[in-house]
Amino acid sequence: MDLVLATRNQGKVDEMRPMLEVLGLNIINQADTDIPSPVEDGATFVENALIKARAVALATGLPSIADDSGLVVPTLDGAPGIFSARYAGPDATDAQNNQKLLSALAEQSDRSAHFFCCMVFLKHADDPTPLIASGRWPGEILMEPRGQGGFGYDPLFWLPDQGKSAAELSKETKNKISHRGRACATLLQSMHAQLASH
Ligand code: IMP
Repeated sequence: MDLVLATRNQGKVDEMRPMLEVLGLNIINQADTDIPSPVEDGATFVENALIKARAVALATGLPSIADDSGLVVPTLDGAPGIFSARYAGPDATDAQNNQKLLSALAEQSDRSAHFFCCMVFLKHADDPTPLIASGRWPGEILMEPRGQGGFGYDPLFWLPDQGKSAAELSKETKNKISHRGRACATLLQSMHAQLASH
C-alpha cells in the first residue's frame, strides 16, 4: 500500500520511515512532493496531527500518516507544547528555541518535562474513523546542551535512566523509547489489525 508521510521535518522522516517500512508500506515523503504544509491552527497535538494528515490525503488521494509532537514543561504551564517548532518565532532554528527554553527556566528549580507525540492514520481525506495513537517520554531539561545527535530539543533533554541526553542516544535506542517510537508502535498495531480485518 502506498502511504504519504505528512512531514517536512527530516529528523522525523529518519525516525519514522524504518518503523513504517516494517509493515511493508511504500512510504512517499511529503518532502519529495510539492504539497505545501497546512496552517497548524489546532489547539492540541491531536487536532494538528489530523490537519496535517488530512491536507496530504486530500492533495494526493492516498492514505496518510502524520504526527504532531512537542516538548511539554509543566512549570511553564505546558510550554512550548504545540508551539515547540516555533517557540522563539515563526522561523526559529533549533538553537534559538533551545536558548529560549534555557532562559525561561533560568529561575526554575523544577526542570521536569516530557515529549509528547500524537500520530494519526487516515485512509482518505474524509475518513471519519482515523486511527490515533500517542506516546509520552519523560525527562528533565539540562542547564546546557549535550550531544550531537537527534534534532530539536534533544540536546537539552536529559534521561536519568540512560545517563544521557536524547542527543547522545543512537537512533535505534531513541526509536525504541521515545514518544514518537511509542506512538508509532501503537499506531502500527492498530493499522495491522485494521488491514488484517479487510
Ligand atoms: P511539529 O513538526 O509541529 O510536530 O513540531 C515538532 C517540534 O517539537 C520539533 O520541531 C521540535 O522542536 C520538537 N520535537 C518533537 N519531537 C522531538 C524530538 O524527538 N526531539 C527533539 N525535539 C522534538
